[in-house]
Amino acid sequence: MIKNLSPSRASQFKTCPKQYKFANVDKIIEPTNEVQAKGTTVHQALEDLYELPKEERSSENLYNLFRNAWTKVRGNDEHVDLFDTIEEEKEWGLDALNLLANYLTLENPKEIEPMEKERWVRGSIDDLNLRGILDRMDRDKDGNLIIIDYKSGKAPSAKYKEPRFFALKLYALLIKDELGEMPKELKLIYLQNSTIHTLQIDEDILNKAKEEILDIWNNIKNAYENNQFPATKNTLCDWCYYKPICPEFNDSAPDTDDLQNINIEIEDLEKNIEAVTMFENPDDIPDESPIKKIDMESTNEQLKNLKDKKQSIINEIEKILRK
Ligand code: SF4
Repeated sequence: MIKNLSPSRASQFKTCPKQYKFANVDKIIEPTNEVQAKGTTVHQALEDLYELPKEERSSENLYNLFRNAWTKVRGNDEHVDLFDTIEEEKEWGLDALNLLANYLTLENPKEIEPMEKERWVRGSIDDLNLRGILDRMDRDKDGNLIIIDYKSGKAPSAKYKEPRFFALKLYALLIKDELGEMPKELKLIYLQNSTIHTLQIDEDILNKAKEEILDIWNNIKNAYENNQFPATKNTLCDWCYYKPICPEFNDSAPDTDDLQNINIEIEDLEKNIEAVTMFENPDDIPDESPIKKIDMESTNEQLKNLKDKKQSIINEIEKILRK
């Protein structure tokens, strides 16, 4: 069972519990794709831009910050196989620079002084621990708090804009609890089609978001309790990484419950190892403690075997996912 929930995990569960299970319970990790890499690097460049003094926040510097950010991470394991050719990488880079050029048509960075950038927000709502990272928080000219998120994708038409504010509403709830101040506005900056959507918020809107997240949280708890994570077909299935192993689309989809069980066993063993290693000398562990009986050598051996078993299952599943 997870201990913390982020708005993106909550939305993933709401859209399709099976996809949530593949990613968070079976832990079949989706490799970074070029769209995600673009989003992350563009976010980094925008964060770094606001580290510069106002007068240095030019388009040229922004583009250089993007190039620097990409140079730093392009050799990382997760990015190393992202592009087959230099041309593909160049095209990707030009597209990213276009997103940043679009950004500069929407805001003038020389006139903005963010209050926070890439800020962790955490807090509890009833028994739910919620956390996430908000991109930026500003004060407007009247001193009101504005919570801002950059989106590297396309803005929906105005009539569909509201659901996209779900994560920001939750961040607003946590910020309100933490600072004792009600944010006034949420702002989504879409870089693909140079659009800003805003939403003025009040207690009523935040209370509804609170009810919604608690509702999702209860459903998640029930799903874990009953091991029920139904596949729910939706408009995003064609972009779902897990489609090749999804039972909705494949009569002979592999059963991934073995992974789920192995992950639980691994977690338990790791907890035991962590508990024992908290004592510098194992002889200091009190006799009545349940961890006193733990034999570290055999526990480590068990852990290694489980990890090997998990890896061989993952390898088989990845063969199907890559087909
Ligand atoms: S393909 Fe669709 S139904 Fe299947 S796991 Fe992905 S989102 Fe869910």
